[in-house]
Amino acid sequence: MVRSLNKGETLVVASHNEGKVREINELIAPFGFKAVSAGSLGLPEPDETGTTFEENARIKSVAAATAAGLPALSDDSGIVVDALGGDPGIYSARWGGPDKDFARAMRMIEEKLDAAGARAPAERTGRFVAVLSLAFPDGASEEFRGEVEGTLVWPPRGENGFGYDPVFLPVGFDRTFGEMSATEKHGWDGKSEGLSHRARAFACFARAKLGAA
Ligand code: IMP
Repeated sequence: MVRSLNKGETLVVASHNEGKVREINELIAPFGFKAVSAGSLGLPEPDETGTTFEENARIKSVAAATAAGLPALSDDSGIVVDALGGDPGIYSARWGGPDKDFARAMRMIEEKLDAAGARAPAERTGRFVAVLSLAFPDGASEEFRGEVEGTLVWPPRGENGFGYDPVFLPVGFDRTFGEMSATEKHGWDGKSEGLSHRARAFACFARAKLGAA
């Protein structure tokens, strides 16, 4: 059954990743929703046992919605590198290790690209993928996907954003996500679809569920 959200409703942001909670909050705010994070409600973090971004997003949103008794929005995302057979993909967070060391994770990508002989930009293509899942307390859910194409650069550039932002150069730009402001990264400068994978997934979600144009 297709469900809808009501303005003013509280939405649980089903993530324990502060970078993502902040970005989702920034995206939701203009639509008049109150967002609370799963972490602040003390909800447990489920194991991401799925094999796709969609499955992992659904596991997180359904766990939060059923535990909190409120609609919940989750994001499962990562960076997919073509020359690495799609790695790190759904394992992007795990490549950071328990200490969330993304300097090391970016270096791992670089070492593997180098070992694969991928040195020209055309051999270093990839994309950020984000899947948003909206779940309701009865366990029903819907998923929305966004992607942004780019190339992997080395060395890392810029201090902004989080995770793999400093090594991702989106197509059509000469600055990495790490060198962009949040406004630029998400394309909130009036460009219709947005730029980042999360903004694009959010645009699909907002059109379907928040009544966005
Ligand atoms: P998960 O969705 O919580 O499994 O984590 C996704 C991981 O992908 C994050 O920990 C980041 O390392 C990476 N990632 C996802 N979105 C972005 C982004 O917008 N910029 C940089 N890294 C990202």
